[in-house]
Amino acid sequence: MGSVQIVTTILAAAITAVAVWLAVRAVMKMTAVIRLGQPAPERFGDKSARTSKMLVETLGHTRMLKWSVVGAAHWFVMVGFIVLSLLVLEAYFEVVSSGGGLPIIGHWTIFGLVTEWIGILGLVGIGVLMVIRLRNRPNRPENRSRFTGSTMWQGYFVEWIVLLVLIFGFIIRGFKVATDHFEYPLWATPLSHAVGAVLPDWSAGVSIAALIKIAISMTWLIVISLNVTMGVAWHRFLAFPNIFFKRDPEKPAGSGLGPLRPMTSEGKPLDFEEADPEKDQFGVAQVEQFSWKGLLDFSTCTECGRCQSQCPAWNTGKPLSPKLLVLSLRDHAYAKAPYLLAGGGKDLTGEEKATQEQLAGVDVLAMAEADRPLIGTAEEGGVIDPDVLWSCTTCGACVEQCPVDIEHVDHIVDMRRYQVLIESSFPSEAGVMLRNLENKGNPWGAPQNTREDWTKGLGFEVPRVGEIDDFEYLFWVGCAGAFEDRAKKTTRAVATLLNEAGVKFAILGEGETCSGDPARRIGNEFVFQMLAQQNVETLNEAFDGREKSKRKIVATCPHCFNTLGNEYGQLGGEFEVVHHTQLLAHLVSAGKLTPVQPVDGGVTYHDPCYLGRHNRIFAAPREVLGSAIGDGRGGAASDSGAGRDSGLIEMPRNSERSFCCGAGGARMWMEEKIGKRINVDRVEEAMATGAKTIAVGCPFCSTMLSDGVNGKGAGEQVEVVDVASVLLRSVKPAAPAGEPETAPAAG
Ligand code: SF4
Ligand code: SF4
Repeated sequence: MGSVQIVTTILAAAITAVAVWLAVRAVMKMTAVIRLGQPAPERFGDKSARTSKMLVETLGHTRMLKWSVVGAAHWFVMVGFIVLSLLVLEAYFEVVSSGGGLPIIGHWTIFGLVTEWIGILGLVGIGVLMVIRLRNRPNRPENRSRFTGSTMWQGYFVEWIVLLVLIFGFIIRGFKVATDHFEYPLWATPLSHAVGAVLPDWSAGVSIAALIKIAISMTWLIVISLNVTMGVAWHRFLAFPNIFFKRDPEKPAGSGLGPLRPMTSEGKPLDFEEADPEKDQFGVAQVEQFSWKGLLDFSTCTECGRCQSQCPAWNTGKPLSPKLLVLSLRDHAYAKAPYLLAGGGKDLTGEEKATQEQLAGVDVLAMAEADRPLIGTAEEGGVIDPDVLWSCTTCGACVEQCPVDIEHVDHIVDMRRYQVLIESSFPSEAGVMLRNLENKGNPWGAPQNTREDWTKGLGFEVPRVGEIDDFEYLFWVGCAGAFEDRAKKTTRAVATLLNEAGVKFAILGEGETCSGDPARRIGNEFVFQMLAQQNVETLNEAFDGREKSKRKIVATCPHCFNTLGNEYGQLGGEFEVVHHTQLLAHLVSAGKLTPVQPVDGGVTYHDPCYLGRHNRIFAAPREVLGSAIGDGRGGAASDSGAGRDSGLIEMPRNSERSFCCGAGGARMWMEEKIGKRINVDRVEEAMATGAKTIAVGCPFCSTMLSDGVNGKGAGEQVEVVDVASVLLRSVKPAAPAGEPETAPAAG
């Protein structure tokens, strides 16, 4: 070992020792913070499904590749990071000796070949990511950047480190070529040989370049260890457990979509018949009341902003950005952690748990952070502003897009639950809806004995459960479908089509009450459970003696469809629920309904969030519309998203990336006072297609888009209509139930 190698070895060892010590300290700190969260025992089941999903999503980049160029570039950088870590290890042999290398595999040509090409593709990948970040930087006035609010220096820092580590990898190899210490052939390592051709024959060069590479890598480790909230770096490690512990490993995408999690205390679902707010946790009032998985979610956020770029609230000028919400919770959790780790915290009656001695050593900043309300205005020092919390439509676009499977909607609803159940603090206008649900069983407060009024004048009998036993489908009408004029037309159209196709169905009539979706999404779990339990009882009675596959329900409202099919199981109600568009698509393809009159003027389709993104039903409504459009292309739809060959004119934001109408998350019953109206934004997009018909599959979308069309003064030119009504007009052009759903003035 020469004198240069002695110096490089000592320096490499010293900086590595410091970096490793800091990294161990940082990992212990992060682990301690995440462990502050509440138990989540359900996250440990089905380990083989979890492992395979984690490997598919990380190694396959299945979420990221939806953003093709970025996804591909990021894949090469990720693989480069994993594989080239071996080359950082090799650098420790190179600081000791210019001819040093990894034992055994370091002599294999295949190792030289693979690392060479991963290095080259990694260079291209990081170059692409750097250009994308620069082109999207938030300070460019023409951009509404997904990076707005991200900590930009951290992104630049990580990218430059990756670039420099890759460059120094080739410089080390170049010096080895120049000093004749390189054992790989030219055909396997062309770039290393090209670099070697321009470098001098300097034997110390290998060890010095290796030292620089180690110093760069360890600088990265030191910086991220001193910044435990630096998600852009830490996600390289945290993404693996975060995806492993996702809510539902069986789901193809967006594990936090579909059903909401039940309300839990100490990790156990709460039963409101026994729950006590002084002993049980009702929602989330303090950051440590999220589960440990919630705190892991916050720690894993990469600040990529994909959620923000798709969020309807953010895109229409509301203060909510799912990314900024997650970052606020993360920063608050880590700033408050010293107080919590010292034993601090409030019990469920609001009393401090720690003694003065325990808190004596906690720094003032952590104590000040602990005093901040989780939900509060800027003047109150709140972590999350109420306008942020109540702007969410629970559309799920954030969950769908997040590459590391963060479950934003669950966290938002958990915070709403505390605000509603304990603080009674929510937009006042929604109070009427909640009172109507409690007193009348529907959000409009309509008399229960008018639930069957929609059946009048249909020209055939609609049987109630109990009047016939051999019904195949129970038609769940829903409150909108029973009481709201526009939705009633859809209900009548569906009933007419089912009757036409010879489907045996029955309704609950006055036995039906609200599914509870708006109560649950606003955070009133108490009212949800009350309504849901009542419905589960009624439905179990209606299906008494039938196995699950014969407990079939068809629903026209995607919110009811989601709640009955995905959430009633939490309360002992197991049913086979289909959306009416699925059943109609089946009846058309089975030849039981035959469209005869083509729909003209162009049709575009708006995917309802709770049908599409939350339940991944994209094809069925397009198949029905394709058959009614009548150009022979119907029925060719697939679940792959845009561009289905159904004769529809697709909006730019469709299928998985569809844009919300603004009504979900109980926003239907709240005023939209900030920014542009979401329904207007969506209607502008729909009208820009030139289609004369905007087809929908949800009564709330129908109301919101109709209001938007009317607001634009385009009610005469553009019609908002349910898929079922489009089909009915094509199947029975003269049917009375198929009268056009012209958009009446907003109610
Ligand atoms: S659910 Fe929709 S509205 Fe709510 S934060 Fe996510 S993207 Fe925004
Ligand atoms: S998409 Fe996920 S990782 Fe990216 S900023 Fe949003 S929450 Fe963070």
